[in-house]
Amino acid sequence: MPELPEVENTVRDLKPLLVGRRFEGVDIRWPRLLSGMPPEEFTERLLGRQIVNADRRGKYLLFALDDGQTLMVHLRMTGQLHVAAPEEPAGVHDHLVFALSDGAELRYQDPRKFGRFLLTRTPQAALEKLGPEPLSESFTPVELFARIQGRRAAIKGLLLNQSVVAGLGNIYADEALFQAGIHPLSPGYALTLADCNRLHSAIRQTLATAIREGGSTLGRSSITNYRRPAGMTGRYQDRHQVYGRAGEPCRVCGATIQRVRIAQRSTHFCPHCQAGAEAINRD
Ligand SMILES: [Zn+2]
Repeated sequence: MPELPEVENTVRDLKPLLVGRRFEGVDIRWPRLLSGMPPEEFTERLLGRQIVNADRRGKYLLFALDDGQTLMVHLRMTGQLHVAAPEEPAGVHDHLVFALSDGAELRYQDPRKFGRFLLTRTPQAALEKLGPEPLSESFTPVELFARIQGRRAAIKGLLLNQSVVAGLGNIYADEALFQAGIHPLSPGYALTLADCNRLHSAIRQTLATAIREGGSTLGRSSITNYRRPAGMTGRYQDRHQVYGRAGEPCRVCGATIQRVRIAQRSTHFCPHCQAGAEAINRD
């Protein structure tokens, strides 16, 4: 699913195409995407509104409108936003199509249909549950340590928990733990401040590099998890050290990359570079 680097690239690409434009029409082909708001209400509240900013918090895209509303978008598994000319035929998975005041269309494509749009005046209600933004100054090694201290859950699961730190998903949690040399099954309470120092910088480095590389695109068919709004795929998938590499040799030590399930998600790690937590590993 799109994680922080993919959402960040989407926001950066869309911002110059959307800010200053107004919504002049909306074609709602899959109303369940609207988080329970009736399509008539969504349309009425959106039409005529101008987009004044595009931003991101965690994995949410935030489009600020000129009347104080915010259009929040969560792409979930396979959601993708792109801007197209109206004469370009819409795809079978384009479930929301917004007509913009400059004549272009903002299209939301989502084969799995798990994404959500929320039109609200109080985005804080959803956002205040999120932990710190990992690339912000408020995210420090001490802050990370404080948030996982005393917790029995595996560090992999804790990193996926958006209230611990915002924006990480399966790919970047696995990659950051590899880079920090921490076994994904290590319980939160077992991590020292020194571990948190390494993990903190690994998270930041992994995310910053992934943003620069345009994020990660998985799947080679027409159904990919993520493409940038102009249609390009990310490049960071070629640099994954562990994610999606189960059975292949570790690029650092040659040991075979393992896959286990943690918190209902498949987790990839190198048993040599990420030693430790063997006791827990045996449960
Ligand atoms: Zn290794």
